[in-house]
Parts: sequence; C-alpha cells; structure tokens
Amino acid sequence: KGDPRLEAISAAIRVVPNFPKKGIMFQDITTLLLDHKAFKHTIDIFVDRYKDMQISVVADDMQMIVGVEARGFMFGPPIALAIGAKFVPLRKPGKLPGKVISESYELEYGHDRLEMHVDAVEPLERVIIIDDLVATGGTLSAAISLMESQGAEVVECACVIGLPEVKGQHKLKGKPLYVLVEPS
Ligand code: AMP
Repeated sequence: KGDPRLEAISAAIRVVPNFPKKGIMFQDITTLLLDHKAFKHTIDIFVDRYKDMQISVVADDMQMIVGVEARGFMFGPPIALAIGAKFVPLRKPGKLPGKVISESYELEYGHDRLEMHVDAVEPLERVIIIDDLVATGGTLSAAISLMESQGAEVVECACVIGLPEVKGQHKLKGKPLYVLVEPS
C-alpha cells in the first residue's frame, strides 16, 4: 500500500447505496472503466504482480487467467494479454455451448451456478482467478472448485475490491486472496 495509484483507483469507483436492493452498498466499477488512467493503473498492478510469478511445476509462467462473469471479463483479458496467458471465462448456467462442468454456490438468498468448458483447462496448469469484488468469497470458492476439479493449480484469487466486513479469505479453500482496495 502507499501506492498513489490505489487512491486513484478507489476514487474512480462509484458507490451506489441500496442497489440492487436496500442495505447493499454497491461498488460500481463502470466508472473505473471510464477513467482510462485509473483503469490502466488497475491492470498494470495486476500485470506487474503476475508477469514474473515463476513458480510453476510444468512451465515458467502463469498460464491462465480465469474471469468470473460478468465483471471478471472486464479485468481478466487485458491482464492475460499482457502476461501472455490464456483467458478462460466462467459463466452463468446455460451460456457455454461446449461440454461444461458446473459448480453451485450459496448466495445471500438461494444459490447460483458457474460453468466452465472442460476442454479449456489442462491438468497442472497454473491459474489466477479474477473478479471485480469479493464479498463472502462464495463465488471465488466455486471458481476454485471448478479449476481444481480439472487438476489445475490455483495460485491466487485477485479482485479490485475487497469488502472488509466479510471474511472472504476463510472461504477461499486456503488460497491466497489479493485485493487492491477496500471501500472507503
Ligand atoms: P461473494 O460471492 O459474496 O464474494 O460476492 C462476490 C460477487 O458478487 C462478485 O461477482 C461481485 O461482483 C458481486 N457483489 C457482491 N457484493 C457486491 C457489492 N457490494 N457491490 C458490487 N458487487 C458486489
């Protein structure tokens, strides 16, 4: 911390109270995307962190960035391009045309499911999982389960925003969590 870029990133995120329902302080990253400097800072910080993480068993570099629908799709691809990794989307049910595996996870009310193409991942591939925000960690945990079911190695989960009041980390199946900012 102490990086001035983080302040610019924080300032570019719009907070919308009571969206999509009462009591939720919605962290809106669309305003971060409107600020090309702050958006670039965001991508640069992740790229700097992951481009040189050479702790692989089968190859020298990070091989895969996995993005969670929908806002993980906005941050994942530019990071993947910059570090020379492939990008794999995890999608809501019924969107992917090929053979999929799926994983359910709990929401505040009810549950949801994430799906992944089985042929997108090779065993032992090293993965970073990206989303815009971690709250309870339920979504990222489902993503970790999908990757591990295919024998991939999840190196870390990364989010632009981490909500401090929810202890996401305890739910992340022992995987490290890297977040850039917390809501002010
Ligand atoms: P969770 O599974 O509880 O960690 O929730 C994370 C997912 O829900 C992410 O995909 C977020 O985009 C979304 N989310 C949860 N809480 C918020 C919030 N306060 N503002 C914006 N998005 C949120």
